[in-house]
Amino acid sequence: MSEAVLNIEEIFNENVFTMGKMKERLPKKVYAEVKNVIEHGGELSMTTADVVAKAMKDWAVEHGATHYTHWFQPLTGITAEKHDAFVTNPDAEGHMLMEFSGKELIKGEPDASSFPSGGLRATFEARGYTAWDCTSPAFIKEDAAGAILCIPTAFCSYKGEALDKKTPLLRSVEALSQQALRIVRLFGNTEATKVDVSVGPEQEYFLVDRDLYLQRKDLIYTGRTLFGAPAPKGQEMDDHYFGAIQERIGSFMKDLNVELWKLGISAKTQHNEVAPAQHELAPIYNSANIAVDHNQLVMETMKKVAQRHGLACLLHEKPFAGVNGSGKHNNWSICTDNGVNLLDPGETPNQNIQFLLVLACIIKGIDIHADLLRQSASNVGNDHRLGANEAPPAIISMFLGEQLEDVVKQLIETGEATSYKKGERLYTGVSTLPDLQKDATDRNRTSPFAFTGNKFEFRMVGSSDSIASPNTTLNAIVAESFCEAADILEKADNFDMAVHDMIKEYLTDHQRIIFNGNGYSEEWVREAERRGLPNIRSMVDSVETLVTDKAVKLFEKFHIFTRVELESRAEVLYETYAKTINIEAMTMIDMAGKQMIPAVVTYTTELADSMNTVTMACPEADTSAQKELLLESSALLAQSQKALGQLKKVTAEAASMEEGKDQAEFYRDKVMTAMSALREPLDKLEMIVDKEIWPLPSYGDLTFEV
Ligand code: ADP
Ligand code: MG
Repeated sequence: MSEAVLNIEEIFNENVFTMGKMKERLPKKVYAEVKNVIEHGGELSMTTADVVAKAMKDWAVEHGATHYTHWFQPLTGITAEKHDAFVTNPDAEGHMLMEFSGKELIKGEPDASSFPSGGLRATFEARGYTAWDCTSPAFIKEDAAGAILCIPTAFCSYKGEALDKKTPLLRSVEALSQQALRIVRLFGNTEATKVDVSVGPEQEYFLVDRDLYLQRKDLIYTGRTLFGAPAPKGQEMDDHYFGAIQERIGSFMKDLNVELWKLGISAKTQHNEVAPAQHELAPIYNSANIAVDHNQLVMETMKKVAQRHGLACLLHEKPFAGVNGSGKHNNWSICTDNGVNLLDPGETPNQNIQFLLVLACIIKGIDIHADLLRQSASNVGNDHRLGANEAPPAIISMFLGEQLEDVVKQLIETGEATSYKKGERLYTGVSTLPDLQKDATDRNRTSPFAFTGNKFEFRMVGSSDSIASPNTTLNAIVAESFCEAADILEKADNFDMAVHDMIKEYLTDHQRIIFNGNGYSEEWVREAERRGLPNIRSMVDSVETLVTDKAVKLFEKFHIFTRVELESRAEVLYETYAKTINIEAMTMIDMAGKQMIPAVVTYTTELADSMNTVTMACPEADTSAQKELLLESSALLAQSQKALGQLKKVTAEAASMEEGKDQAEFYRDKVMTAMSALREPLDKLEMIVDKEIWPLPSYGDLTFEV
C-alpha cells in the first residue's frame, strides 16, 4: 500500500491557534479587540480575555489537549513549562467541566524559584510571573505526555524585572520600531505605523546513532565529546556538504518537517553540512519574536524526532574536536508595515538614499558596540568555535560586498560616488549619491556580519543558543544609531545636504569595521588590532561588556534592560560558565577513572601476559612489538593517571570558590587546561588499545555509522 500523499497546505498550522481560527471562533467585536492589541499593543479587558480563553480551550480540547501551560524562556537558554490540566472540581452529581479562564490565560505564577535570576528574585518573592505574549500564537505540543496547549509568555519578577529572554527582545523590537519610524518619516513615508524586525535563523545540527550516543557519558551529560581520537576520515574530501541525504536521515527530516509545519514553522531548506553527520535546516524568515519562539521549537522538535528514529540530535556548538562545529546564521532585516525593507536598496532615488543612511547608521552602531554584539553570541560551547579557524573569528567586522564597499569608499574619499562596479544599476537621481546595483553578488563566508542583498547575516551565534540575545542586542544598537541620526536630521534646514553629510561622516568615522578579506587569517587578527577593533576571545571575557557605562546607557535609554537587570545577567553568565565546565570536568573524571584507565590497565596486562606466554612457549620468539606497545601504553597510562589527579585537584579547588568572575576565569584557565592535559594521553591510547577493550564508540563509529 502506498503512503497517503502529504497535504502540506492542510497540515500547516494544524496545531496553532492562528488569527484565522480566532476570527472563526470569536465574536466579531472580541476578535477586533484582540487583533488591535496584537498589532498595536495594550491590554485586553478581563471579559475579552475570558472569551478568548474559552475559545482557545475549546479548540485545544477538540485537538485532544488535556493540559495547558505557560511556555516561557528563562535564562537557562531553553524553554520551560509546567502543565495544568483543564480539570476542575466536579459538581454534586460528579460531573466535571473542563475550564480555562481569562485570568489563567493572561497571567501565571509558576513556582519558579529555581530558575537563574542573578539575585533579582530574593526568595521571599520567589514567585516569578508569566504574562501572555499575544503576539506569538498559542500552539499545541503533541508528545508522549499527550497534547498540551502552550501559551507563549514573558517571565518577570514581582517588581517587573525581566527574568527571561523574551521580555527584553520585545522591548528591543519596540525601541527599534519607534526609531526606525522616525527615519522613514524623514523620507516622506507617512503611511507606516510600525517597523518590524524579520529574522530567519539557519540551524545546524549533528545526528548520531542513539545506541552509540548512550554509550558515551560525555554526550549524555555535556552534549559534546570530551575524549576521542580523530577518525581516519574527516571532512577533507568535502563529500558531505550538500551530499545526497541518507535514507535514515531523510526519514528523520521528513518527520521533522511535518511536525514543524503543524506548528506553523515554515521549514524550507534542508541539506547536509560540511562535517560528517552534520546537517542544516532553515525556515522562512518571520517576525523576530515568533522566529525566536520557533527556533526554540525547532531545536526541541529535532531532539524529539531524532529519538523516534533511533538517533540523537546534537545541538552543541562543538560536538567533535577536529571537525566543523555548528552555528546559527541569524538573518536579520527591518521592514515597515507598509512593505518597505529598510535594508533593500530599493527602486527609487529616495529609497536609495534612505538605504545608504540606514546602512551608515548600522555601520556606526556595530562599530561602537562590536563588543556587545560579540557578547550576544557567546556561550560556553561557542568558545570552541569563534576564532578557531572555522566559524567566524571572535572579532566583529562587516562585509558589504564589492559593489557597496566601492560606493562607501568613494563617498568617504570624495563625498560623491559617481562610478560603479559592473551590473544592473538603480538610479538615485542625485548627482552626489551613487546609483546602486541591485544584487550584492559575492559572498564572504568568513565574515561574522555580512550584508547579503536585503538583510544582514550574523553568523556568530552558537547552534544551541537562543537567538533572543543576538537580536535584542542588534535591535538596541541600531535603535540608538537611528535615534541619534533622527535627532539631527529632524532639525536640519537643508535635509538633503544634512543626510549627505551625515552618511559621509558616519562612513568615515566607522570604516574600520568594514572588512572584506579572509576573516580566518592570522593577518586579520593583527590588522584588526591595528584598527583598534576588540578581539574578545572567550565568553568569560565578554561578560563585562554588558555592564560598561556605554552598555548601560544604551539599554537603559531604550528601556530594554536596567542596570540591575544587566548586572543580574552578567552574574548568571559567570555562574552558567562555571557550572558547565564543572560538569564537563566531573564527566571526564568519571569516564577516565571508571572506564578508560581501567581499560588501559586491562590492555597492558593482556600485553604483559602475552609476552610472558609467548616467551615461555618459545624463548627465541621476538616479543619486541609487545614490549614496545607495553612501554608506550604504560607511559601514557602513567601520564593519564597523573593528569586525572591534577584535574581532580583543580576542579575541587574551583568548586570551592565563590561564584563570579574569578571563579569563571579559574575554570577557563585552570580546569580547562587540566581537561586538555587529561584528554591528550587518552586520545593517544585510543589509537593503541585493542578496539574490543576500548570502552567508547569512536569518532568514526559516531559520525560515519549513522
Ligand atoms: P543563504 O543565506 O544560505 O543563501 P537564503 O538567502 O535563502 O539562504 O536565506 C537564509 C535565511 O534567511 C532563510 O531563513 C530566509 O528566510 C532568511 N531571509 C531571507 N530574506 C530575509 C530578510 N529580508 N530578512 C530576514 N531574513 C531573511
Ligand atoms: Mg546563509
